[in-house]
Amino acid sequence: MVSRRPTVRPTHPAAEVRRILPKLRRQHPKADTELHFENAFQLLAATILSAQCTDERVNAVTPALFTAYPDADSLAAADEGALEELVKSTGFYRSKARSLRGMAAGVVADHAGAVPRSREALIALPGVGRKTANVVLGHAMGVPAMPVDRHVLRVANRLGIARGDDPERVEEQLCAALPRRGWTRASDTLILHGRRICKPKPLCDRCNVQQECAFFPPSGPPARRRTRR
Ligand code: SF4
Repeated sequence: MVSRRPTVRPTHPAAEVRRILPKLRRQHPKADTELHFENAFQLLAATILSAQCTDERVNAVTPALFTAYPDADSLAAADEGALEELVKSTGFYRSKARSLRGMAAGVVADHAGAVPRSREALIALPGVGRKTANVVLGHAMGVPAMPVDRHVLRVANRLGIARGDDPERVEEQLCAALPRRGWTRASDTLILHGRRICKPKPLCDRCNVQQECAFFPPSGPPARRRTRR
């Protein structure tokens, strides 16, 4: 649970943020994590592998990984070379294999083999950062959470619903503006919008929230901005 008050104010007040997100959700009604998983352990492992890698590539690798290592006990005891070979195509495979084995060893040693349900306990596991913990809480535990990745940072700043390049500060601002039950879906929506529409070179003509956007038009003067609906 985010408890600190945001220190930087976004462009839009909270009421406006709560109006903008549903509009964006209508553009991406099926927004959800694109990683394939059947339980919290699998999502935790898949999210570790997704760093600097596409979800498609991770999804191509995880079936064999989870067949070989179906739980934390087996992954903790994995042969280093065999594990590296399995995750090699996701990039940074030595570091990722080390994180996977460390995470699994922590789950076995400190949580009797079950992935913990608190952010603090998740972050204490080797190789698990705040974003990964939030992904697992939100999608595998049913605990509302706001993963902030580079897409959320870009879209939220352009839209003016958060400000700053620090993921934790942006998480605070979005969580402060939105109802807790909507956090996970809001993150999914912003991520998908960043992947499909609000790319580094944005496709503004296809954007549902163009008229609420603090960034649009990318190069035109404020006077050219459209009147809000
Ligand atoms: S109008 Fe353009 S810059 Fe603004 S959120 Fe939409 S795609 Fe991104």
